[in-house]
Amino acid sequence: MTERTVTRRELLRRCGTLVVTAAAGSSILSACGGSGGLDCTDTSGLDASQRTQRTSLQYVERSRFRDKNCANCSLYESAAENQCGGCTLVPGPINPAGYCAGWVANPA
Ligand code: SF4
Repeated sequence: MTERTVTRRELLRRCGTLVVTAAAGSSILSACGGSGGLDCTDTSGLDASQRTQRTSLQYVERSRFRDKNCANCSLYESAAENQCGGCTLVPGPINPAGYCAGWVANPA
């Protein structure tokens, strides 16, 4: 059996962003796939204006920040585990590992 050690640098390179989710008072380190590979990109239910709003706020499925993501944004509307949530600012399905320019810290 061959064992292989993955360095921190390699993990970061592979995964892009490490997402720390502060859900239910616990921190979940989610690497390689954000929230379990959750895909919240289906905007077929949105009209053109809503899609534009989503784009203009630069919503992305994976935050590039370690400490800022939709799950810890005060505008995030959480859903059941492994489901897309919502947002009071950005229309459509929202990935808890995502991010946009409207991010607002949850009050402590
Ligand atoms: Fe995510 Fe932006 Fe909505 Fe906050 S405002 S939950 S960062 S999409």
